[in-house]
Amino acid sequence: MNACDSEIICSILQNAGYTMVLNPDNACMVILNCCSVREDGHTAAIYRAQEIKRRNPSAKLVLCGCYAKLLKKDFLEHQDELDAIIAPESYRSLPYALERLKNGESKFIVESGADDDLYSEIRPATNFATPNRAVVLGKGCNQLCSYCIEPFTRGNERYVSPATIMSNLETLFEREQGGIVSLVGHMIDRYHYGDMSFAKMLDMVAKESLRHGAWVKYLSSHPVAYSEDVVKAVCNNENIMRVVHLPVQSGSNDVLKRMRRGYTAEEYLRVIDSVRALCPNMNIVTDIMVGFCGETDADFRKSIELIEKVCPGDINVYAFSMRSNTHAYKTMTDDVPECVKKERLAEARCIASDLKRKYLSASIGKRQFYMPGKVCGQNSQEFTDLFNRTYILSVAQRRYQPNVQIEGFITQDNNLISCAE
Ligand code: SF4
Repeated sequence: MNACDSEIICSILQNAGYTMVLNPDNACMVILNCCSVREDGHTAAIYRAQEIKRRNPSAKLVLCGCYAKLLKKDFLEHQDELDAIIAPESYRSLPYALERLKNGESKFIVESGADDDLYSEIRPATNFATPNRAVVLGKGCNQLCSYCIEPFTRGNERYVSPATIMSNLETLFEREQGGIVSLVGHMIDRYHYGDMSFAKMLDMVAKESLRHGAWVKYLSSHPVAYSEDVVKAVCNNENIMRVVHLPVQSGSNDVLKRMRRGYTAEEYLRVIDSVRALCPNMNIVTDIMVGFCGETDADFRKSIELIEKVCPGDINVYAFSMRSNTHAYKTMTDDVPECVKKERLAEARCIASDLKRKYLSASIGKRQFYMPGKVCGQNSQEFTDLFNRTYILSVAQRRYQPNVQIEGFITQDNNLISCAE
């Protein structure tokens, strides 16, 4: 989402006559586009701002992104390295804000407070530092999970028109054919625009992407909104990756209720069953949060039991960190000690790793086809890319790149993949 917003920022500034530089050491203005979802994003943003200012003291430093939405004037006054904060709905004001900085003004915040950050009329421009292959379908979330900051920083759900989505897709393909296009939205399954549903939109994007030799994936799904029509759209388009990210967060109904997730563990399992009934080779990816307010050992055991039942191909495990403004912040106590969170985190990660190995071991010794250029990576990011692309490449590579045959074997040593061209 923020990578897409960075492209909007680039477009606005290029239209105002600014030129992008690749290295912040050479910039007169540096814009940091930051995420607020977790506490560590906050810490990383401040660290990065200090680092940039140390290397380039004369640069003006502006903080943007959903993180910026949380910050108030007194924060700005106390952060010597920051010159201004621009909220996500106010990027159209960036050229004026930069002019104010050039004219010697400092320490100001620009925000309108409106849910006005779809920027549908602005064609994204390449941010060369982090090339993006995502298209935004919608922003905001009405779910109001008790731990989540997104509804406060991103506002209510609102969706982009099909015409804008297809136009932004064409912009991606004008830059580069093939690859993987990610459709993104906070509540992507709830996408709707007139009579266009998410399943129909996904189908339309997949068919257009097929003409450009590209694969499609989407994130993130929510168990209360995921529909069989979406699974059918996946099954009907062989260039949609057979992977769905369905975060469960906890296996305990008490914790799920306090989290305000809107489903029980049993309902989550029914969603998984229906996905697998329609698409048996769908790779399920989920999230588990440990140490949420009031989580007991018994609650944590239920999370472990649930993931063992689901057998996801991959699990993102993370520890709860309290975010200000949220319902949990106002009404609950962060009462699980850090040492207990760490223990649960370590145990859940260990089980996640075993489950992933189990999922992969089903492919040991089988021939697989992979995307060229990503085959021999042994770092975790490349491995994850391979992991999620396996199915689709087995189909798509033969279709789009019939002369490139890359054969790989999944091995048991450290989950790595050995490959031969
Ligand atoms: S569904 Fe819940 S966790 Fe996801 S963005 Fe909405 S409020 Fe946050």
